[in-house]
Amino acid sequence: MASKYVYLFGGGKADGNAQMKHLLGGKGANLAEMANLGIPVPPGFTITTEVCTYYYEHGAVYPPDLTSQVEEALHWLEQNMGRKFGDPERPLLVSVRSGAAISMPGMMDTVLNLGLNDQTVQGLILETQDERFAYDCYRRFIAMYGDVILGLKPEHKDERDPFEEIIDELKEKRKVEFDSELPASDLKELVERYKGLIRVRKKVEFRQNPMDQLWGAISAVFNSWNNPRAVAYRELNEIPADMGTAVTVQAMVFGNMGEDCGTGVAFTRNPATGENVFYGEYLINAQGEDVVAGIRTPLPINKQQKTDPNSLSLEETMSEVYGELERVRSTLDRHYRDMQDIEFTIQKDKLWMLQTRSGKRTGFASFKIAVDMVREGILSKEEALMRVTADHLNQLLRPTFDPKAKAEAVRDGTLLAKGLNAGPGAATGRVVFSAQDAEKWARQGEVVILVRIETSPEDIRGMNASRGILTARGGMTSHAALVARQMGKVCVVGCSDLEVDYQKRRMIVGDRVIREGNYVSLDGTTGEVYLGQIPTRPSEILRVIIDKSLSPKKSEIYQDYMALLGWADEYRRLGVYANADQANQAEEAVAFGAEGIGLTRTEHMFFEGERIDAVREMILAQDLAGREQALAKLLPMQKEDFKGLFRIMREKPVTIRTLDPPLHEFLPHTEREIHSLAAKLGMGEDLLKAKVDTLEEVNPMLGHRGCRLGIVYPEITAMQARAIIEAACEVKQEGIDVHPEIMIPLVGHVAELENQRRVVERTAEEVMSRYGVKVNYRVGTMIEVPRGALTADQIAEVADFFSFGTNDLTQMVFGISRDDSGKFLPAYVEAKVWEHDPFHRLDQVGVGGLMDIAVKKGRSTKPDLKIGICGEHGGEATSIDFCHRVGLDYVSCSPYRVAAARLSAAQAAIRETRAKARTDEKEVRNSRKGSASASTRKR
Ligand code: ADP
Ligand code: MG
Ligand code: MG
Repeated sequence: MASKYVYLFGGGKADGNAQMKHLLGGKGANLAEMANLGIPVPPGFTITTEVCTYYYEHGAVYPPDLTSQVEEALHWLEQNMGRKFGDPERPLLVSVRSGAAISMPGMMDTVLNLGLNDQTVQGLILETQDERFAYDCYRRFIAMYGDVILGLKPEHKDERDPFEEIIDELKEKRKVEFDSELPASDLKELVERYKGLIRVRKKVEFRQNPMDQLWGAISAVFNSWNNPRAVAYRELNEIPADMGTAVTVQAMVFGNMGEDCGTGVAFTRNPATGENVFYGEYLINAQGEDVVAGIRTPLPINKQQKTDPNSLSLEETMSEVYGELERVRSTLDRHYRDMQDIEFTIQKDKLWMLQTRSGKRTGFASFKIAVDMVREGILSKEEALMRVTADHLNQLLRPTFDPKAKAEAVRDGTLLAKGLNAGPGAATGRVVFSAQDAEKWARQGEVVILVRIETSPEDIRGMNASRGILTARGGMTSHAALVARQMGKVCVVGCSDLEVDYQKRRMIVGDRVIREGNYVSLDGTTGEVYLGQIPTRPSEILRVIIDKSLSPKKSEIYQDYMALLGWADEYRRLGVYANADQANQAEEAVAFGAEGIGLTRTEHMFFEGERIDAVREMILAQDLAGREQALAKLLPMQKEDFKGLFRIMREKPVTIRTLDPPLHEFLPHTEREIHSLAAKLGMGEDLLKAKVDTLEEVNPMLGHRGCRLGIVYPEITAMQARAIIEAACEVKQEGIDVHPEIMIPLVGHVAELENQRRVVERTAEEVMSRYGVKVNYRVGTMIEVPRGALTADQIAEVADFFSFGTNDLTQMVFGISRDDSGKFLPAYVEAKVWEHDPFHRLDQVGVGGLMDIAVKKGRSTKPDLKIGICGEHGGEATSIDFCHRVGLDYVSCSPYRVAAARLSAAQAAIRETRAKARTDEKEVRNSRKGSASASTRKR
């Protein structure tokens, strides 16, 4: 039997349906689906994508059966319409439309009004008694014929569309603004001038034979699959090139037959906000792309959407048609169970649908639509959870630029540069070039953007005081990016076009100089940097959760947000903790739903106020006594911090890591700083300098840090353990049953953990007996050194829990230093040597492989070992999915990522259940097959 290349649709039924996108293209498949639903669709037929593939494989030749199948389909269409193709009295006119399985809006070509020629146009005039309309169709067709079929395009980039130039010239001569104002005689003249243009430019005559026109258009659509625009679009969107396009030939309906006609586009819900309101635009007496092409300003489809009281909505001008359109809207929205982007035409008060597809939307809308559709009974909770991404949720937390103001800024040419979009959102403020200035200006009530070549731990407070952070160097996992994410700051990093000059307090971008105090605006969602102020709108959810300036009852978005996260909690198995160093961060984390703290970096508190002096004194002490004296000063400060954390986290686990970074990081480096510290400590400047020098390491990442510090200086671990347990005892006396978990970093050998565990336990016993309080504490370790992972069975015997430190583990497994990776990592990702930055997305094969080993080994000696992750990966969707599969108990991430992590954890669980259902089904099928063949054999 010959292959079927042509599929019919129309009159309430169709050969195809929405499932057949790969064969019929999205447009063809959905036209068939709409026909099956009884929605009014002009009848037609679709030539399959297989023909496109064949056409390219055989050097622009069609399969032998195609001609007869197309002729047959055309015959069916003629009968259906009661018209004949090329008939001088009642001519059938068609559109020839392109459409691939994945929509590529506007990338390929469409021809309308095909079948018109000097004879049939007379038929159309006789039939409609409307010469103007007939010539309007004819002139449009010749222009599209010239453009699409003959490739008559502008010859150089400054030239406009040559057909447009001719019509504009005529409009000017007639002193009219719009095409629709030109009388029939002018349109008739245009037809002749267009034909002349084709003759001059292309040295051919416009084809009068409709069959020639049709095949010309079909080839043109297939050829358009490989036009440079389409190729570029596919590359950008990773659409396979061998998919091919289908061609749909469809009877024309006319929106340009007068004032009771029109054409429009609409979304079944608002694509920017997701609100369940019908949203769209239309034009009276217009055809095809007129609405999108901006030939006239389109009008709103309904009253609700009107901004100008003088404009007339479709609801007002053609209320019956609008009613019908609303019914179609709700049918499609419910049937597809998703927001649709639709195209329609009205011919003489009759509505015709020409296209439907799932509509593109913002993260905000994506979220809102999913939640609403559950409430409307359209989607299950599970489906809704799978429709929203972590990125969408994060977008909800960001302030945004007012879209109109941003468009104006782009027009005004204030775009300065582009970097990496490290912290999504929008921020406008005045430029400062140091963390100190940021704090100072902020105290004076200024909103500032901190601009640095790159940031360092000393800048934390200045970063916190800034609205946004901009750096010239560094990648998505640079210090600035990491801290910005933890703080929820808008951040653009690695903006290499900036020449920052700290001395002169200015930066140069191209030929522009931006000085301290000048305004810039950062779009952290796109990575763009603008000169000047662009107004922003704050995130409603943060106004409820963080600022508490909005009551939860008053915010629908907040309620929806909480509802979706509540559903996520019903599905997820992974716990979600937060990385938080300070009470306010812990508070935020809890507000986002954190069930514990997975990492408190004690050293982050060392930079606060006077503390750094005590820290330095401890580091520089000549002997144990001196160190203990300095540590005694730190003890009460650390204890207060921990009490703050415990009071907020209450009975939830709080994981506190003992000191991790190399000591050198806490010492001053510049002459001036060394000078002032020497004076403060009453120490010789040379002696201090010598001490700083000896502490310097060639490779600090692999140097004297982590548990190595605690083993050499057990008094540091002891002081920290004391601070933790004393804090726990005191808070427990307040009636809160606290759960501290003390975490020893950088363990590679079980003996290291044994050593540190002894120090902790000894201190804890002593403190608890002194207070007469029993605290339920645990001692565990980070798994972040490959040897630690490989000997996890031994380590587990001494550890109450594991937490994967995947930042260090990635560095050590790959053998790269994150701080130096900026020199080659972007090039690696660009050249696709690596698909992703392994510091951003967990490398599941290598680093993940090692985690898998560690989980299995660890649980082989301690089956109920609690295991989590506290590296940056703990907040990233694909990494969370991996953590679920490998059997972790929890993930821990920065407070602002907690909500998205709850979603990702639910998605991981749902994916697993679905995959399991699929394999079960397969097994059942296979076993049935097996028993069937067994019974045949018996016979
Ligand atoms: P694109 O893929 O670029 O959107 P389409 O094939 O959808 O191209 O065609 C563009 C527009 O042309 C449609 O939105 C519709 O307004 C108009 N159009 C296409 N086919 C017909 C038809 N048979 N009758 C009336 N208008 C049509
Ligand atoms: Mg379209
Ligand atoms: Mg580490």
